[in-house]
Amino acid sequence: MSECVFCKIVAGQIPSAKVYEDEFTLAFMDIGEVSPGHVLVAVKPHVDSIYGLDDALAAAVFRTAARVARAVRNAYSPDGVTLYQANGVAAGQTVFHFHLHLVPRYARDGMRLTWPAKNPSREQLEANAAKLRAALE
Ligand code: 5GP
Ligand code: ZN
Repeated sequence: MSECVFCKIVAGQIPSAKVYEDEFTLAFMDIGEVSPGHVLVAVKPHVDSIYGLDDALAAAVFRTAARVARAVRNAYSPDGVTLYQANGVAAGQTVFHFHLHLVPRYARDGMRLTWPAKNPSREQLEANAAKLRAALE
């Protein structure tokens, strides 16, 4: 993917502030940080979104995320850390190379994700679960 900015970062063709890397993942600072210590964990191969992750890549991403989260806690002592991961324009994805965000959080830091919770019936929840079970690959 010659035009993908994260492929270029992985290849070292454009600079990034690297935190950690292994065979499958690269963790680096987000240029548009919400707070100091805001890290992106990207997969090294070009994969657009979560739908393209095989088991090894999926496992590697979360292993790196947990490892870097502990570093964020040790380095910044935030009040919390939010993992944010978007797939598709409607979900807020802007770089179409799989990555997740680790965002150090503080009281009154201004970060918001509105969460319009509904209260479906028990039957509706069971129907939703059955629909998903039937769709598992
Ligand atoms: P998304 O909206 O796709 O979840 O997040 C993409 C993130 O990538 C944004 O937070 C943005 O600041 C970051 N980003 C975009 N281009 C670059 C870049 O060239 N270098 C770095 N380090 N981060 C980038
Ligand atoms: Zn890419």
